[in-house]
Amino acid sequence: SQPAYCPPDVEQLGRATWTFLHTTAAYYPARPTTQQRANMLNLLHSLPVLYPCSHCASHLGETMRTNPPDVSGRVALSRWLCERHNEVNERLGKDKFDCAKVDERWKDGPPDGSCD
Ligand code: FAD
Repeated sequence: SQPAYCPPDVEQLGRATWTFLHTTAAYYPARPTTQQRANMLNLLHSLPVLYPCSHCASHLGETMRTNPPDVSGRVALSRWLCERHNEVNERLGKDKFDCAKVDERWKDGPPDGSCD
């Protein structure tokens, strides 16, 4: 792999972006205000326009048209993102992630406390 001072490639950018998005969803309120919902919708709808990998962005735009973001609360948003990420995983021939484990991965860590 490249030295850490190189600009990110598609894989590094993807890992960083998924980390940001899943972590942001993990800390999104259970009962968001109208303003918080609007801000989250703005963030998500910006991705197909601004994400600096054009084929990634256009795929995401297509799947978001079929599956509009669910910003009603933390659990629903985390699941929606997990499903969109799984669509990318599938397209790239990667394993599907078990969306029941999304909090363990991005919020709570494993029950054995190894991430505490
Ligand atoms: P990543 O897929 O980056 O995942 C990081 C970590 O998230 C994993 O190690 C795992 O612990 C966890 N994880 C995996 N799946 C899920 C899930 N469903 N829900 C929650 N957590 C999960 N790359 C391309 O080559 N072509 C594309 O078209 C493309 N489109 C993309 C679109 C978007 C919006 C984004 C953010 C990225 C896209 N990428 C694309 C990059 C790609 O998704 C990966 O980020 C990249 O290939 C690096 O993969 P990785 O195996 O390191 O793990």
